[in-house]
Amino acid sequence: MPPFLSLREAAAAIGVHHTTLGRAVKRGQLSPAARTPGGYPRFTQEAVQVYAAGMLETSQSVPVGDKRRRLRETVLLLASELRPEVVLQRLAELARRLVRARYGALAVMEQDGTIREFYTVGLTRAQRTALGPLPQGRGLLGELFKKSHTVRVADIAGHASSVGFPPNHPPMRSLLGVPILSQGRNVGNLYLTDKIGAAEFSAHDQELMEELAEYAAVAIRNASLYQQTQQRSERWTALQAIANRITLAMDPQTILRQVVLDGRNLLGVDSAFISLLNPATGRLRTVTSSGLRRQRGLPPLTVTAGAGNIAIWGRTPLVIDDYATDNRFLPAYKERIASMGLVSLIVAPLEARGQALGALYLGTRRRRRFQPEEAELVGQLASLAAVVLDNARQYEAERSAHYRAERAEARLQTILQHEPEAVVVVTPDRRVISANPAAGRLFFGRDGVKLIGRRYPFGARFHKPDGTPLPDEEWPVALCLADRGPCLGLELLLDRPKGDRTPVLVNAVRIPPSEAGDGAVVAVLQDISHLKQVEQLKNDFMAMISHDLKSPLTTIKGMASSIQLDSKGENVVVPLEWPKVIEAEVDRLTDLVDNLLDMSRIESGAMPLDLEECYVADLIPDCVWRVVQGDEAVAARIRVETPDDLPPVMADYLQLQRVLCNLLNNAIKYSAVGTPITLRAGLAAGGSRMGVEVQDAGMGIPAVEQQMVFEKFYRSQAHQTRGGKSGSGLGLAICRAIIGAHGGTISVTSQVNSGSTFRFELPLQTNH
Ligand code: ADP
Repeated sequence: MPPFLSLREAAAAIGVHHTTLGRAVKRGQLSPAARTPGGYPRFTQEAVQVYAAGMLETSQSVPVGDKRRRLRETVLLLASELRPEVVLQRLAELARRLVRARYGALAVMEQDGTIREFYTVGLTRAQRTALGPLPQGRGLLGELFKKSHTVRVADIAGHASSVGFPPNHPPMRSLLGVPILSQGRNVGNLYLTDKIGAAEFSAHDQELMEELAEYAAVAIRNASLYQQTQQRSERWTALQAIANRITLAMDPQTILRQVVLDGRNLLGVDSAFISLLNPATGRLRTVTSSGLRRQRGLPPLTVTAGAGNIAIWGRTPLVIDDYATDNRFLPAYKERIASMGLVSLIVAPLEARGQALGALYLGTRRRRRFQPEEAELVGQLASLAAVVLDNARQYEAERSAHYRAERAEARLQTILQHEPEAVVVVTPDRRVISANPAAGRLFFGRDGVKLIGRRYPFGARFHKPDGTPLPDEEWPVALCLADRGPCLGLELLLDRPKGDRTPVLVNAVRIPPSEAGDGAVVAVLQDISHLKQVEQLKNDFMAMISHDLKSPLTTIKGMASSIQLDSKGENVVVPLEWPKVIEAEVDRLTDLVDNLLDMSRIESGAMPLDLEECYVADLIPDCVWRVVQGDEAVAARIRVETPDDLPPVMADYLQLQRVLCNLLNNAIKYSAVGTPITLRAGLAAGGSRMGVEVQDAGMGIPAVEQQMVFEKFYRSQAHQTRGGKSGSGLGLAICRAIIGAHGGTISVTSQVNSGSTFRFELPLQTNH
């Protein structure tokens, strides 16, 4: 906003004495915009300039020289106005008043001769709208455009070049048309029509207007400079906005798309696209575009000697006024660009951290002369885009590395969750930072116990295998941390918080110190109580084998020696039952060896099943007869509770016989003489299975041992010490193997001192 003028300043500005201006204020010809606290008037420049123009118009007596001086001063005052459209509109108004014309107009021309702006005065708003679009410059006005000289005529319609007025045009007679020339170029025209109070415009009017046209030329030049400056600042502001927008985008594709759209708007071009460089081949490939004519059937433009490459090599934006005539490009490339419908282009390299990433292209379908400032702007946009793109790519790479690490971690966690061994990760200060469910089970006997965050020993203690407490410095984690290498295969006894003890095998290894911390130890603890048991079984078996093999052999050998002595005639009488005893001992040995051989055959799958239809109604009496061996006392104990109409099962008859005999023999062996033994058979599981069970009222099996009796060589401790029953611990293991081979199951329910029931079930429809 220009400052207010005092009375003296205003008078000086328009070249009158301040008292003259004072009188004009009194007469109301000029109104002050404000007054100082002391009552002095203050004027706007606009009011002073309007007053000056009116004064020129009314003072008929003022000589032309004075008019000129005042004209110049008024124009200078006008020049202080910044908005070009206001200046040009007022110049037109000033011109109209100076030469007393009814209508006036000022046209601003483009370089190609078309009218860019058209300011009219004297026309009402309705008349102005009725005129329609900007004049084309045909007819009389056209002559002005072309010849760049003043036209002064009394009657427009009578002039040789006139083509008449368009419809709705107000009638006009006299015309004064003056070209506005700037550096020899016609940058606009001033038109005045219908001289008031005279038939036509005078030579003085022409002189005055030609002078005004010179000022108008300056105003137009200023206007275009102003517009350029204005546009420049608007564009840089727009670039700032683009920067803000694209830096918010995270993925490269969105960034590229946004740059193309924004770039197109920034310069107001028809098309924009981005090609990315393949560093391996040096080729550019268009990845995103906007406003590009579709190239049906053509592969994407991938070239190594196009504008993009030149821009990349030159590391600076490249301006191409017209592809068709530019000798820097091969004809094939030009054709390709032409097929995209482009004529003029700016191409800027996308470069970040010294690396070329690609190029940004902005193009027009009509020839356009891009300004250096525009090339600079596109260069800035491309640099910005490249940096943001580079950041986004880096971010993406980091994110995918992070994602991969997360997936590996998730996989590891899944493995740990389902790992049957206890895995714990302990920090040097004995804090557990990771533990799997198996660790909870090992230490506390159940899942879901939170170990993480606790500090060892949380109620647990380790002992050496001989039972002496493990010193702190020999704790596996401590050993690993003391850099004594991994601690592998350490056998220890773990006293659990709930009070029991179990043998464990510990493997521990130190995780190398990383940025994350100063190292931790991963320990894997394996409950080896089962292994220990197997080991014990093996030892017991060896003892049993040596006893069971040795005692019959000793008996046989003793008897054989006696018979030998007898045969030498030294009067030793061989008791009659000896051959029977020898036979029984040999049978025992054969049984034992047979069992051992069968067990290993079944385990190695070398004993095929000979399947046939087997009826339980045959099987049961057969087995009872075999077991009883004519002993009536035993026979009297056995009861059979079986329906007659049971269907057959597909099975190996001899193997089934073996199972049932085994169960019957056990029932006899582990129960008191005279107690009942019951055999039952019947359909089970809705008729799909056949169940057979042997129930005794014997010594029973403690609950903890009920599953173990099916293990190889397992024999109940209680029975060995109490009853001194001999056996190999293989019978039930063989039963389980045979029933399993038939697709069936075997189980026991038992109560100590009440008796046991062994039951097996076989499918009726077998696939074997
Ligand atoms: P063995 O009888 O030769 O020892 P088994 O495999 O047949 O071998 O049996 C394993 C163990 O199961 C036996 O030692 C015994 O302790 C227990 N057992 C088997 N049958 C019975 C039963 N009917 N009553 C009580 N205990 C039994």
